[in-house]
Amino acid sequence: MTTDFDILIIGGGMVGASLGVALAPLPLRVGLIEAVEFESAAQPSYDDRTVALSYGSKRIFESLKVWDRLDASGATPIQRIHISDRGHFGFARLDAAEAGVAALGYVVENRALGQALKPVLAETANLTVICPATVEDVAFAESAANVTFRRGDKLGTLSARLVVAADGGTSPVRNKAGIETRRTDYHQTALVTNVTPELPHRNVAYERFTDSGPLAFLPMSENRCAVVWSLSPEKAEALLALDATQFMAALQEQFGTRLGRLRKVGKRAAYPLALTKVSEHIRPRLVLIGNAAHTVHPVAGQGFNLGLRDVAVLAQILNEAQRAGRDIGELAVLEDYAGWRKRDNLAISTFTDGLVRTFSNDLPPLSFARNLGLVAVDLYPPAKRALLRLSMGLAGRLPRLARGLPL
Ligand SMILES: Cc1cc2nc3c(=O)[nH]c(=O)nc-3n(C[C@H](O)[C@H](O)[C@H](O)COP(=O)(O)OP(=O)(O)OC[C@H]3O[C@@H](n4cnc5c(N)ncnc54)[C@H](O)[C@@H]3O)c2cc1C
Repeated sequence: MTTDFDILIIGGGMVGASLGVALAPLPLRVGLIEAVEFESAAQPSYDDRTVALSYGSKRIFESLKVWDRLDASGATPIQRIHISDRGHFGFARLDAAEAGVAALGYVVENRALGQALKPVLAETANLTVICPATVEDVAFAESAANVTFRRGDKLGTLSARLVVAADGGTSPVRNKAGIETRRTDYHQTALVTNVTPELPHRNVAYERFTDSGPLAFLPMSENRCAVVWSLSPEKAEALLALDATQFMAALQEQFGTRLGRLRKVGKRAAYPLALTKVSEHIRPRLVLIGNAAHTVHPVAGQGFNLGLRDVAVLAQILNEAQRAGRDIGELAVLEDYAGWRKRDNLAISTFTDGLVRTFSNDLPPLSFARNLGLVAVDLYPPAKRALLRLSMGLAGRLPRLARGLPL
């Protein structure tokens, strides 16, 4: 059967657009449907947040030839990570020099990521971007999937051998396919902003577990720090209502004075947090990637990094399948993908969920044990190496793009 595309990606957010770029060298006809223009203030993926890219994600973007653009947009190296438990004795440090790399990761503004990916998509001859357009329905037949989308007041239909759902945590495509989703609400809201402290951040990322929830300060350009503060929804609402001076005082109280006084604060925004797991990542002619396949707590900055590894593995599996003359939408091909991704998915969701739960409980025996754990990570090299490999995105079987190789 002839189809309009070989692969149709639904959602051109950070993960879907990265997949479009990764598939560029393949002799396949690729379409990408995105609901909101990349530069729009309403874009839900390329918004005012920052993303901490792991060392492994940097390597993937280098392989995709996107890194130089990101670097030029002010990507800020993380040279050290300092983890502490407010009011307790434990702390741990992870150091780039100890890991033998120039940086453990990089902080990039989501908007800058959109601006780096968009021109690469536009330069790709075998890729068609349909934007703004919203997918309304997907129907699956034996040899193709049919996608109905709305563009302005017109409806259109396109067929493809494989549909990739990269349409975010609420994935309309996943829902249309009737895939069961388990959402565990953390009853926390991430309050996101950036601040300029008095002292230089020296490229240190701070993860501080406080009574109110985990608080991260990530180094940014112009000596700003990206703040991700996970709080009860009520507390977050109260903090959003404060004026800038009152807010900085409340933040300073939780973070302390390691970076001196906080002098300036940017726009504040809030995101509800949940752990999402799906019962199936693949179906014949369908694969879920990125937040459509999993959402995790941002405590260790892993969600997008996990999604980018979905991209690197999927691109490799599809490349190998098309070279071997296999049908890229058939279940057997997609099973290779799902089997490969299982362990990484489980490791990251267990790690992030475990962190949130362990540090949310202030029962004395537990807080003592977790502080011993922090000290152990700091002093016991094998524990530190294991944590480094996980947080740098280098644990387990790595796809070619993450090893710096072309597909
Ligand atoms: C506060 C916070 C901080 C974070 N920090 C980090 C971090 O430091 N490091 C990290 O790795 N991760 C981080 N994450 C996670 C990261 O933001 C997500 O993993 C990432 O945004 C997922 O990208 P995505 O492309 O899968 O989904 P999304 O970003 O949700 O994009 C989905 C896209 O699909 C489009 N779409 C939706 N429905 C349709 C439709 N029907 N038709 C067409 N298009 C559609 C949307 O417009 C959107 O562009 C953080 C998350 C939060 C909430």
